[in-house]
Amino acid sequence: MKCPQCGHLEHRVLETRDREEEIRRRRECLACKLRFSTVETLLVYYPHVIKKDGRREPFSKEKLRRGIQIACKKRPVSVGQIESLVNRISRWVQNSPDRELAAKKVGQAVVKELKELDDVAYVRFASVYKSFKDVNEFMQSLEAEKAAQEQQGADL
Ligand SMILES: [Zn+2]
Repeated sequence: MKCPQCGHLEHRVLETRDREEEIRRRRECLACKLRFSTVETLLVYYPHVIKKDGRREPFSKEKLRRGIQIACKKRPVSVGQIESLVNRISRWVQNSPDRELAAKKVGQAVVKELKELDDVAYVRFASVYKSFKDVNEFMQSLEAEKAAQEQQGADL
């Protein structure tokens, strides 16, 4: 990569920050000493998820994690367990031979895995999920419920 100021090709790395799917490096040009940052992104192409109403959106690991976290709230499920569940489901989605996947199938896979992890989290996810169009709608509902509970708590 060329220095954006002088075009020199050599630089040293001052700092590396490794995040889940991204690595940022702060660099210094060896010629003009300009400091700049580069980002390396892991390119993972997930299939699209088809919702019940036919709309499509890219699968989001973040949304999946949030939904599972909410279902597992105050349950004896560790952060590590949630993370490995999220990773397993994401890997499964990623390895799907289909480029598009029904949201329902993703939800069912989560339900199946949660069943082995925690009864309450499983029932929460399964019962609420079934009456919703897809995982996202389910999560929005759980979040609204959570906000309402917090509001109630604040009123007392
Ligand atoms: Zn330079």
